[in-house]
Amino acid sequence: MAANHLNMFDVKKIRDDFPILNQQVNKKPLVYFDNGATTQKPSSVANEVLAYYLNKNSNIHRGVHYLSAQATLDYENARETVRSFINAKNSDEIIFTSGATSSLNLLAFSFGEKFISPGDEIIVTEMEHHANIVPWQMLCGRKNAKLKVIPFDNNGLLLLERLPELISEKTRLISVIHTSNVLGTVNPIKEIINTARRHNIAVCVDAAQSVQHLPIDVQELDCDFLVFSGHKVYGPTGIGVIYGKEKWLEQLPPWQGGGDMVDEVSFDKTTYNQLPFKFEAGTTNYIGAAGLAKALEYLSNTGLDKIHRYEQSLTEYAMKKFKEIDGLNVFGNVSGKACIFSFIIDGVHPLDTGMVLDKMGIAVRTGTHCAQPVMQHFGVDGMVRASLAFYNTTEEIDYLCQGIDQVKKMFL
Ligand code: PLP
Repeated sequence: MAANHLNMFDVKKIRDDFPILNQQVNKKPLVYFDNGATTQKPSSVANEVLAYYLNKNSNIHRGVHYLSAQATLDYENARETVRSFINAKNSDEIIFTSGATSSLNLLAFSFGEKFISPGDEIIVTEMEHHANIVPWQMLCGRKNAKLKVIPFDNNGLLLLERLPELISEKTRLISVIHTSNVLGTVNPIKEIINTARRHNIAVCVDAAQSVQHLPIDVQELDCDFLVFSGHKVYGPTGIGVIYGKEKWLEQLPPWQGGGDMVDEVSFDKTTYNQLPFKFEAGTTNYIGAAGLAKALEYLSNTGLDKIHRYEQSLTEYAMKKFKEIDGLNVFGNVSGKACIFSFIIDGVHPLDTGMVLDKMGIAVRTGTHCAQPVMQHFGVDGMVRASLAFYNTTEEIDYLCQGIDQVKKMFL
């Protein structure tokens, strides 16, 4: 079954669309396994960004002239592309930000201003990225509210049975990571949302590590908010998204003030623009948005279902191979996990592992992966992370296994 999906996916053809992959690093073919940090870009994305700077650039929403009108059209079309990609009800529910981090900060500020009072509670999980901890912690500090945490077990499984006891009549929001950037666990967000619904609690989904790996339908999920970053979905840096149900976004106050987010300004009073512009102060990254649209079109044309099946086959293949390596500890072993593998070789510091792998042309991440509570859970101060994408291959996984053997020979 896994082998079938591996053969059915034309990875060679996909790789041709990503020119950066075809290079040598340290005189070895590059094996790019740092996709959790950022993904590489297909030519269509890079060409769009270049075309903007060479031929199409003009600020949006401001000019009556041709270039401005075209750029405005592209920007609003990009919003529509995002809407369709996650199946939001309407494009007013799509806010462009600079990335998942700024999306979460915006929500923490605006939701906090309107809906959080002293004594209120917000629930996150123990496996959050710092971007989905610190903004809520800052909010709790400002408002004298409380942050509660759903724990996970040593396999990386979220202990959902603990959720009911964490919920109280003071719970206002659950903000949860969809796919863990360390453990690869794909959390049962639908179940969390169903529970939240019964208690009238809003749910925010951090989809920074999921939206590029599996199809997401926000209407079917019925989440209240969902965020992700462009650069992790094969798009440009500096562009991100908030999806929010209109009924919430209408009620939330703006985060930043400035041009474009206003209706009328006088020294006595300012009124705000309608959705989605209320949340997009100043010159936005309209070139990033155009590039993001190309990235999402690329994913849709390739087929998120196909990508998901292929990546699941890579995951099965890798986990089987890793099990055969003595002294290799892989963190996160929940079935259906994404192709994200954090590990430590017994007796070898993650930094040393990363440096040896780099000499072999393999790009992995080392450190805490912006998830220090996950490190604290396992009592380690860092891990190596190989995070794969649909342009990676089983041959590259084999090469990583050789690399791990090489590390063991050098250090043990
Ligand atoms: N959430 C998760 C799960 C992530 O993995 C990351 C980045 O690694 C972020 C949020 C923050 O994304 P960005 O740095 O693009 O804002």
